[in-house]
Amino acid sequence: MANTYDYVIVGAGSAGCVLVNRLSADEDTDVLLLEAGKPDEKDEIHVPTLFPGLMQSDVDWEYWTVPQEGLNGREEYWPRGKTLGGSSAINAMMYVRGNPHDYDRWAELGNEGWSWDEMRPYFKRMEDFEGGESEYHGEGGPLWVEQEHPYGDVTNALIDAAVEVGFDRNENINAGQQEGMGPLPLTVRDGTRESTAVSYLHPVLDRENLAAQTGAHVTQIEFEGDTATGVTYVQDGSTDTVDADQEVILSAGSIDSVQLLLLSGIGPADELEEHGIDVKNDLPGVGKNLQDHLVASAAYELHGDPEIQQGEVLCQVTGFERTDPDLPAPDLQYFLARVYFMRHGFDNPEEGAGMTPSATLLHPESRGEITLASADPFDDPVIDPNYLAHEADLDTLVEGVKRTRQIGHADALEEYRGDEIWPEGDVENDADLREHVRETAQTIYHPVGTCKMGDDEMAVVDDELRVHGMNDLRVVDASVMPEITSGNTNAPTIAIAERAADIIRGLD
Ligand SMILES: Cc1cc2nc3c(=O)[nH]c(=O)nc-3n(C[C@H](O)[C@H](O)[C@H](O)COP(=O)(O)OP(=O)(O)OC[C@H]3O[C@@H](n4cnc5c(N)ncnc54)[C@H](O)[C@@H]3O)c2cc1C
Repeated sequence: MANTYDYVIVGAGSAGCVLVNRLSADEDTDVLLLEAGKPDEKDEIHVPTLFPGLMQSDVDWEYWTVPQEGLNGREEYWPRGKTLGGSSAINAMMYVRGNPHDYDRWAELGNEGWSWDEMRPYFKRMEDFEGGESEYHGEGGPLWVEQEHPYGDVTNALIDAAVEVGFDRNENINAGQQEGMGPLPLTVRDGTRESTAVSYLHPVLDRENLAAQTGAHVTQIEFEGDTATGVTYVQDGSTDTVDADQEVILSAGSIDSVQLLLLSGIGPADELEEHGIDVKNDLPGVGKNLQDHLVASAAYELHGDPEIQQGEVLCQVTGFERTDPDLPAPDLQYFLARVYFMRHGFDNPEEGAGMTPSATLLHPESRGEITLASADPFDDPVIDPNYLAHEADLDTLVEGVKRTRQIGHADALEEYRGDEIWPEGDVENDADLREHVRETAQTIYHPVGTCKMGDDEMAVVDDELRVHGMNDLRVVDASVMPEITSGNTNAPTIAIAERAADIIRGLD
């Protein structure tokens, strides 16, 4: 392998694969991609219904949070993809852009170029939308997006149940108006997963100006003064250093980009000193501002043994709602699954079929942090999302669970509904529901915000995603979101990387 490239990109995840594709499109630019995980060869990655089998497998970093007071002291499992495609190779393939207000907020916070009107072209450019080109959607982009899948009877009944309890039908939650309940778009093409490795990376791997290494765990950013000059990585037990003539770009995700900055001396000085790390740049926001989506559910036995249709996937319905009409965007997202999905599936009953209507808290007030456990790059960092630290977060989630139970008890589901097995026991009041949430809520896998963009004291990158106070070093991944989006975070992360590629190439 050559030792000098124009760009060295760390991490082949949702963002990293996009950058590799777009930056290496200029044949005069040499790009090196370093990915800690292995190639994306497992069947479970590519067959959507096998997705639960990826959890705690050899393509999962399998992180855990510290005990969460708000979750009755439980430690929460945080899967993260460790393979080509990163978390887009192990995620649930739901394709949700978020609310226009989310991006307008980023711009309002002082981030020029990130408003909805400015981001919409990137969402269109990345798509090859099943429904074709329109004001809202793109055609011919790298990422195939399916809008509808064959619905079975149970899924139809779940939608009817939601309509019965007051949701409008919404046939396209990615076309401006999020509220209502309707089809959940998926990054699935002809029954196989469209990770960013499949859509952006594999098609360009034969470019001569692109080198991609797997099993290459980056342990350190190298500097001359304040300028990033390359990275050190460990592969097959050997340590090597490569140089970046133009830039080092961290796309290692909301946990590992933080860990790499901290290991390299960029972060809160007191934390670095505690681990004997030389402070290069006392940047207090590194690892702070951690936001995640917490989900709480009801669950029902599914009776009547309804057939699963050919091509049917197991969660095909989503919807959004505001608990207060004065809110600028929905604060709850719903998923209506025609399977059990109880605590990552680990608490599913061993026998019988089920349905799980669930509610996700979209805009938590609670903020957590990621810190180092030690200066050893192979030690997992300390993850503290600080779930439900704000009472308002619990209140909203309880409202969400009430709605999922209304759906679960609707007449439209009468034919299929068996016993309610979540919440457990007799629910008599809000206190019981609060306890249910604290006892059973889980992450829906969307940590963001730990290297937030902005120009305040706690910002880590500027609005061109350059690390404050450093040269030739960017972060491009979900960690740069100043505030979490109203929905699943894969599509927003891809759009961030699309825009970053234009910024880096001077095209924006
Ligand atoms: C189980 C699960 C289900 C999800 N479901 C959905 C969903 O249905 N829809 C949705 O929109 N979002 C979903 N998400 C969230 C979404 O996938 C993520 O927000 C998104 O993939 C984050 O992209 P990223 O580029 O920030 O990081 P990642 O995609 O996680 O990429 C980071 C990459 O960096 C690599 N890396 C890390 N450290 C190093 C290092 N030191 N050296 C080299 N490489 C390194 C990792 O191995 C990984 O490949 C889910 C996530 C998970 C885990």
